[in-house]
Amino acid sequence: MLKQARPRFDPATIPNDLCPIGTELITMLPGDWRSERPVVDREKCVKCATCWLLCPVQCIIEMAAWFDISYDSCKGCGICAIECPHNAIAMVIETED
Ligand code: SF4
Ligand code: SF4
Repeated sequence: MLKQARPRFDPATIPNDLCPIGTELITMLPGDWRSERPVVDREKCVKCATCWLLCPVQCIIEMAAWFDISYDSCKGCGICAIECPHNAIAMVIETED
């Protein structure tokens, strides 16, 4: 039996006396709300890939001689910094710039 498509939600059907709710999708990347970011010390990194293996969102990128971070998807959890066996990753506070 074929599944019927769900009818599209029409915000105009919401009664005016209800409390306000979000009716638009807004794209937010972790970089928009992250409070700390990992920074790799390229001199200390020995490319062991521990951070790459343990990052829960797979945002570690392999470079020629070190591993780096994709800040679009990094959520700033700090696991990579804690687990790096060479202390090559430092967590720094995000700034507003
Ligand atoms: S865990 Fe540390 S040393 Fe290993 S690849 Fe990542 S940053 Fe480099
Ligand atoms: S801080 Fe967390 S999300 Fe960001 S690179 Fe490290 S392990 Fe991945």
